Amino acid sequence: MARHPNKHIREAIRYAEQHGWTLRISRGHAFGRLYCPHPCLCQIGVHSTPRNPEGHARWLRREIDKCPKPIGGAAAAGGAEDRESDEQDQQEEEQP
Ligand SMILES: [Zn+2]
Repeated sequence: MARHPNKHIREAIRYAEQHGWTLRISRGHAFGRLYCPHPCLCQIGVHSTPRNPEGHARWLRREIDKCPKPIGGAAAAGGAEDRESDEQDQQEEEQP
């Protein structure tokens, strides 16, 4: 599995994966794309060399948090995600 060269973005990708998202590596100037596991099918493009990797990582997390999540309750469908979101660090900073 390819790893993103930037630590902040790797962490954002891990954050996504903890929430059940899937990373698909792509070619070109995008590193890949994150897909949410829910019926809303959110997609987030991950850049390979953003000018501001930390900002990009923070933006990724915000986009992940913005996912409206299942309609109809995937929680009932298997509980794959065991409430590990309790300790997610809430970023309060907003990007300009
Ligand atoms: Zn979604």
